[in-house]
Amino acid sequence: MKVRTRFAPSPTGFMHIGNLRTALYSYLYAKHNGGDFILRIEDTDRERYVDGAVEFIYSILKQAGIEHDEGPDKDGGCGPYVQSERKDIYLQYAKELIKKGGAYYCFCDKERLDSLADENGIKKYDKHCLNLSREEIEQKLSSGVPYVIRQNIPTEGMTEYTDMVYGTIRVPCEDMEDGVLIKSDGLPTYNFANVVDDHLMRITHVMRGTEYLSSTPKYNLMYDVFGWERPQYMHLPPIMKDAQHKLSKRYGDANFEDFIDKGFLPEAIVNYIALLGWAPKSNEEKMSLSELVDAFDVDGISHSPAIFDENKMKWLNGRYIRELSFEDFMKHAVKFFDSSVIKDKYDYNKFGKLLQGRIEIFSEIPSAVAFIEEFGEYDLSLFEHKKMKTDAKIAEVCLTEAIKIFEDIKDFNETEIHDRLVGRCEELGLKKGQMLFTVRVGLTGCASTPGGAVEMADILGKDESLRRLAFSLGLIKKHA
Ligand code: GLU
Repeated sequence: MKVRTRFAPSPTGFMHIGNLRTALYSYLYAKHNGGDFILRIEDTDRERYVDGAVEFIYSILKQAGIEHDEGPDKDGGCGPYVQSERKDIYLQYAKELIKKGGAYYCFCDKERLDSLADENGIKKYDKHCLNLSREEIEQKLSSGVPYVIRQNIPTEGMTEYTDMVYGTIRVPCEDMEDGVLIKSDGLPTYNFANVVDDHLMRITHVMRGTEYLSSTPKYNLMYDVFGWERPQYMHLPPIMKDAQHKLSKRYGDANFEDFIDKGFLPEAIVNYIALLGWAPKSNEEKMSLSELVDAFDVDGISHSPAIFDENKMKWLNGRYIRELSFEDFMKHAVKFFDSSVIKDKYDYNKFGKLLQGRIEIFSEIPSAVAFIEEFGEYDLSLFEHKKMKTDAKIAEVCLTEAIKIFEDIKDFNETEIHDRLVGRCEELGLKKGQMLFTVRVGLTGCASTPGGAVEMADILGKDESLRRLAFSLGLIKKHA
């Protein structure tokens, strides 16, 4: 049988990292096994619905490279793929379930339901309406009394299934409640819609968060009453912020879009989240989507919660950044240069060349270039470098020479700057490092910069470099 998995997000306007991981694992499992990956929109909770959220889901899956074979925009014969467009289907199946004894109409009003609360406020429905006669039901339905349809769960016995990740799950029937399948607005609850849809869409493997691990027995009872084959289940461990707290979309700490805005590359995010709860046999860490497809297996899925480590994702992102072509690097970097101090002042490409090997995420760019505009009074101890044997005195010699050299250069470019500065060292009895280090400090007022004296002078240009060197020389003389 062809493997068919699905991703069933609710259109809430967020794509939490945990949801994206579910999508990714479902996709990887399907593709590893030559199967299909289906996108279904679970929008029956109208209160959570956000306009434009469906387009948002497409856009994120696209950025992540997770391509669906079927979905609202790609009919594969199992549609509609949006739950709110399937309303009649659910009602029809709910009625069938009633006929088979797996569900019943419930007309209890809020007052009666509230009265069922125990001393802890927990309400467990008491199957009151299960005992209504056929005539009573007909009469209430025809006179328009509001109703819901509830699942009829056996009062005794045990349900059991084997989760592909967590093994055998057993739940006594008495621990389960006759939950609502069709709400009074005629729309199904998740508990019902997921069963009907997974069956009609011929889903063979269901992947979702562990929060559904213990309600799956209820779903299985419905499959059994319908006489449908149960799918296989893989419940996925939660993703935690730390040992105690789950990552939460409410705190905005784990949304795909936020990470993109922060300057992560989609392929690095996808790579990182693939490893959040799954490990390849090879222990390799940097893996492309197609390598993930090849390597993905259920054995590698962990039972224990995964801890989301943004630093690790940054590190991985840095590896991806370094492997980009310079052109692609700049495509991503431009907007961050635009919001930095170098906008309209210095050459983005020149800075880009210095930064590609140094940053881990693009949003580091503005702070990585800020130093260039922070030039002003600085502490002369910056010229002291033990290993390099430099201090303000040596700097005075170097800067005086550098000014002469710079004034003399006609075509102010990196090669000229380098060759002329280094060329003078021998005659002056200086080491190359002494010259380059002190000129860098003289140009920037910083002991460490991305790129050295030559790159800094080239970026600043002849006039600004001369102005800065003169300022620095003045500073040394003032404190001498
Ligand atoms: N709509 C559910 C959610 O977003 C999907 C759960 C499932 O995959 O079955 O949590």
